[in-house]
Amino acid sequence: MALRTALMIAPLGADETTDDLAATFTTVDPAAPALTVGELSTQRGDGIFESIGVVDGHPQEVEAHLERLAHSAQLCDLPAPNLEQWRGAVLTVAAECGPGESVIKLILSRGVEHGPSPTAWATAASAADFSRVRTDGIRVVTLDRGYSIDAPASAPWLLLGAKTLSYAVNMAALREAHRRGADDAVFTSSDGYVLEAPTATLILRRGDTFVTPAPNGGILHGTTQLSLFEHLADRGFTTVYETIPVADLRTADAAWLVSSVRLAAPITELDGAALTVDAEFTASLNDYLLSPRD
Ligand code: PLP
Repeated sequence: MALRTALMIAPLGADETTDDLAATFTTVDPAAPALTVGELSTQRGDGIFESIGVVDGHPQEVEAHLERLAHSAQLCDLPAPNLEQWRGAVLTVAAECGPGESVIKLILSRGVEHGPSPTAWATAASAADFSRVRTDGIRVVTLDRGYSIDAPASAPWLLLGAKTLSYAVNMAALREAHRRGADDAVFTSSDGYVLEAPTATLILRRGDTFVTPAPNGGILHGTTQLSLFEHLADRGFTTVYETIPVADLRTADAAWLVSSVRLAAPITELDGAALTVDAEFTASLNDYLLSPRD
C-alpha cells in the first residue's frame, strides 16, 4: 500500500469558518517523517481515525464517515471536528487517487503531549487487491472479546463505539485467527452474543431477511453495512438490527464481513462448519459497493 499523498491539517474549531480552506492544509512528502516524538497517537494510540474507500477517484460515503468521526471525537472527549474542513481534506487527497481502488485515512490525534492542539492529517494510498477475497471468500473463527453485551453502558471509558487508533487488540485477534487456520475473526461477547469482526461488520442472511448486530455502543456502526442495508431494502429485502446469540451463527443461510475497503467478503466457513456462498448474489453486492455512493 504505497502512500500517494499526505496532508497535514491545522484543525479549525467546529463552527469556525474560513474563505481559504486550502491555507489550513499542508501537503507533505508521504515518505518523509511528519510527526514529532511527543505525539500521543503514537505513544498511546490516543486518537481516532476513518478509512474511506475510493473507487476511480470517488470517495465513498464521505458523510457517513464524517458523522462517525464526529461521534468518535465526542466519545473520546476530543474537540469536535470541523466537518467542512475534513470534507475539503477528503476531496483534496481524493484528487490524487486516480483510477482503481484507493483508501483515504483521516486521523485526529489528541496531539503532542502538553501541546496546544490536536494533530490531524489525511493520507491516500492505493488499496490492496481484494478481488479474490470478494469471490473466493474467507474462513472465520469466533473469538471472545472479553466483555459482556452491556459493557458499553457500564464502562463507557472503554470507548467501545469509537473508532480509536488503539487497534492492537484487533490485530492480535487477526493473528489468533490465522493461528487457528482461519482468515478472519468474529468477536463474541463474554455472555454469548455476536459483536463484529476486528476490521469489519458481520451481516447474516436468513431467507430474505438480512440481520446485523445492533450497534448499541459495543461495536462500530459500519458505514458499509448502513449503505448495504439501504441497497437491500431498495431490492425488497428486509433488514434488521438484532442482539444475536452466538448459536444463531450456525443457522444462517449465508454471512459476510463487510467494510469500506475490502467490501463484502462472503464467509465460506464459520468455526469449521461450511457456509453456503451465493456467488452471483455476492457479486451483485460488490458491484453495488463499487458503484459511486454518497
Ligand atoms: N468494525 C470495526 C472494528 C472496524 O474497524 C471496521 C472498519 O474498519 C468496521 C466495523 C466496518 O466499518 P466500515 O464499514 O465503516 O468500514
